Amino acid sequence: MPKHINDQFSNLPISRQRKYQLRQVALGKCQICGKDKHQNSVFCGNHLLQHRLRQRRLKGYDEKRETGSGRPSICIGDEKE
Ligand SMILES: [Zn+2]
Repeated sequence: MPKHINDQFSNLPISRQRKYQLRQVALGKCQICGKDKHQNSVFCGNHLLQHRLRQRRLKGYDEKRETGSGRPSICIGDEKE
């Protein structure tokens, strides 16, 4: 039988997936894949880039251009696998 995890997230009325995400963030890991997370984020570099591109698409903003405005993504683009 799998070991029961007993911590601060055990008795919250949320899904197992969300508990996993909160535990990963508390450990300083990416909440999707469990790698070391990027500075000031809950994602690793690769998933942070995916998240930003997805939000840009969902909110209807223009496609990212090299010379366009916005936060530079040079630091996270290099971590792609
Ligand atoms: Zn990740």
